[in-house]
Amino acid sequence: MIMNTPQASQSSPLINRAPGPLKATGRKRVLIIGGGFAGLNAALQLKNTDAIVTIIDRKNHHTFQPLLYQVATATLTPADIAQPIRNIVGQADNIAVLMSEVNGIDSRTNCVHLSDGSLLDYDYLILATGATHSYFGHDEWQPIAPGLKTVEDALKIRRQVFTAFEAAEREVLLRGHHKPLNFIVIGGGPTGVELAGALADSCRLYCKNFRGIDASKSRVLLIEAIPKILAAYPDKLSASALEQLKQIGVEVMLNTQVTAIEPGLVRTNIGDLDATVVLWAAGVKASPLGKMLGGEIDKRGCVMVDANLNPPGKPNVFVCGDLAHFEQDGKQVPGVAQTAIQMGTYAGQQILADMRGQARKPFCYRDKGDMATIGRMKAVANIKWPFKAVITGGPAWFSWLLIHVMFLVGFRNRFVVTLQWLWTFLGHKQGAQLITDKN
Ligand SMILES: Cc1cc2nc3c(=O)[nH]c(=O)nc-3n(C[C@H](O)[C@H](O)[C@H](O)COP(=O)(O)OP(=O)(O)OC[C@H]3O[C@@H](n4cnc5c(N)ncnc54)[C@H](O)[C@@H]3O)c2cc1C
Repeated sequence: MIMNTPQASQSSPLINRAPGPLKATGRKRVLIIGGGFAGLNAALQLKNTDAIVTIIDRKNHHTFQPLLYQVATATLTPADIAQPIRNIVGQADNIAVLMSEVNGIDSRTNCVHLSDGSLLDYDYLILATGATHSYFGHDEWQPIAPGLKTVEDALKIRRQVFTAFEAAEREVLLRGHHKPLNFIVIGGGPTGVELAGALADSCRLYCKNFRGIDASKSRVLLIEAIPKILAAYPDKLSASALEQLKQIGVEVMLNTQVTAIEPGLVRTNIGDLDATVVLWAAGVKASPLGKMLGGEIDKRGCVMVDANLNPPGKPNVFVCGDLAHFEQDGKQVPGVAQTAIQMGTYAGQQILADMRGQARKPFCYRDKGDMATIGRMKAVANIKWPFKAVITGGPAWFSWLLIHVMFLVGFRNRFVVTLQWLWTFLGHKQGAQLITDKN
């Protein structure tokens, strides 16, 4: 089915067929929806070329999602891990940045619909709007158990954690004791493991500032439905991650299914748990824009793409990053930053090849491996490129740190983040312990 949004029909007075730089001039107009890893890397390939490129994102910034945990647990601040998209591509005359939400795509007439009713035409579309949390049909859990995907999510989690600490400290001052602080993370994939580890590590540091709080009454629980965490990792690494989590005090509950989440309570198949803060890391679903292309999607809403990352029959539309379902060697490539970077780069290069009259090459994913950080000097890494190695503990943690700092956008961020980490690491201190608003 081809999507038409109700508020933006062909006769709507709101329609703006972009009489400015986007009008048809003979130069190819490339619309990139999403300024994440995939969209940005596509744009960087097309920088200073003959294409007229517009990046549309509902945020004005690119977020380095792999470091969101550090914002949620107050090691880093939002500005350390996010950069205005304009600053990243600002030097290129042929790239415009539009902060706007896309709510419709008509791939038959080659235009996208913006939430203000405007229409933008394109010759090429790169759709890279990523994924969001899935609550498996229980959307009512979302307000109680936030997930971590955006800077706003990270700030919300930070606020909930510090509000809980403040309330406990108040209880101690007024009544002499506090109720247990139970931080419950649901989902033992990379996001849940990293979040639980970061929380456990950080809680120990917070207890230095909140002097009335009994550290033994501050618990981090990680709930996983199946018998192992990091299920996609080799057994050795998943066992090591479990051991490292235990060493920093995370209580891992395997084979435990969450049946309900209520304020202050998580119900599971093996009993109910009192909860101070509940965090969701159990599932993701693709951005709803994928469906609007009208082609086949998988059960999570990812768009099935061919060897050129095109939905079949749409050679001028590329779907990249977390939103794409691309299979190589019989397996779907993982939804990670490297995949998004490689796909975005590829899409930009194929558009350039078209413009030069060259043949397109099929996309080939290079798997560089996986790593997950668990805490201070604790991590697991399955490195596959440029050499193969399975490492754990301190060496894995340093590799993780190096790679994450290296891939941060902007020299300032790399510098500040390195300093901030040194500060935390050497001084056992954490910086941004702020509660900034009520929502
Ligand atoms: C907490 C967390 C930790 C992670 N850690 C790692 C890690 O350690 N290593 C790793 O490799 N990967 C990690 N990942 C996964 C990695 O971040 C993603 O695979 C990657 O960001 C996907 O890139 P993308 O460009 O497809 O989408 P995204 O980076 O999600 O970008 C999508 C963009 O589209 C915009 N957008 C969405 N909908 C619309 C719309 N309707 N209109 C306009 N704009 C829209 C969004 O604002 C966003 O900027 C992590 C993810 C999370 C959430």
